[in-house]
Amino acid sequence: MTFRTRYTGLIDRYRDRLPVHDDTRIIGLGEGNTPLIRLNNIPGALGKDVDIYVKYEGLNPTGSFKDRGMTMAVTKAVEEGAKAIICASTGNTSAAAAAYAARAGIQAFVLIPDGKIAMGKLAQAMMHGAIVIQIKGNFDEGMRLVKEVAEEAPVTIVNSINPYRLQGQKTAAFEIVEELGRAPDYHCIPVGNAGNITAHWMGYSEYFEQGIVNNRPVMLGYQAEGASPFIKGEMEDNPETVATAIRIGHPQSWDKAWKVREESKGWFDSRSDEQILRAQKMLAEKEGVFCEPASATSLAGAIQDLEEGKIPEGSTIVCTLTGHGLKDPDIAIQQSGSDMVTVDADLGSVKEAILKNL
Ligand SMILES: *Cc1c(COP(=O)(O)O)cnc(C)c1O
Repeated sequence: MTFRTRYTGLIDRYRDRLPVHDDTRIIGLGEGNTPLIRLNNIPGALGKDVDIYVKYEGLNPTGSFKDRGMTMAVTKAVEEGAKAIICASTGNTSAAAAAYAARAGIQAFVLIPDGKIAMGKLAQAMMHGAIVIQIKGNFDEGMRLVKEVAEEAPVTIVNSINPYRLQGQKTAAFEIVEELGRAPDYHCIPVGNAGNITAHWMGYSEYFEQGIVNNRPVMLGYQAEGASPFIKGEMEDNPETVATAIRIGHPQSWDKAWKVREESKGWFDSRSDEQILRAQKMLAEKEGVFCEPASATSLAGAIQDLEEGKIPEGSTIVCTLTGHGLKDPDIAIQQSGSDMVTVDADLGSVKEAILKNL
């Protein structure tokens, strides 16, 4: 029998397509190579003849796609001699920064919005030894402060304004193309700072321009209704949504994302918190895939656009699921709490609970 070569992460796998040298010390945790799962039950439940795949980015080492960018950003920061990194974060960037800094043996500083971060993410940042600075403000204010403080202190910014982040994240598009043998017709993705939609388009375009594939997807960026600057067409100051990972009013990749929309002939749209949570539950219940609320925005987006005929039947659709459901146990339990029954600890009661639910 032949054994598979050990998978050591996306920088090793896509070395020729990333800005690294032969002797670059790679700071990696085996990120990337996430499953592309075909939905077996949801299309039928919607009564639609479509192929929907979810790219389950929650299976990266720290549980979100941020690891793709962070392995690159921290590898380059270390190569350039940095002793510390800093980011503003709605949670997942701080978890990834903390883990990769730990791996590299450098210090991470993370600015998070006071009280608006999912528990799993906070636990990660703290366990990996980051210095967590909670600010009495939202992500956008944290981002502004990070940019200012990096001018005055020897810390490298690892938010997605760091160009190496997008380089790492573009590899998700490579993986999708390699698995499907072509690009999908539509790629649906949650949008916060819009770094990820930009990075995916870079990846698809790289393969397209080099003739590796002859199509590129229409890029569809979805936001939460209460945090939807791309739909309103202007930045907003008080974003609010249950999907805390995309609770952003001043996207950092604003111009880049508008260009993606134009070049791919795509669109932006928003979904209500209720639609987002319904899609999250549907994925968990009907497909066995557990993602965090923000991630389900991509599927919530696709569902309504399919129902309205904006995405035609017969299409191949990929929805990015940006982060793992375990990141935000509070929301998950809140929305499923009513499904729990408490009975006496005797055979009769347990048996009754089973039989009445069969
Ligand atoms: C960061 C993040 C997003 C948004 O990605 P952007 O690149 O900021 O648009 C969406 N979902 C999750 C779970 C995230 O962590």
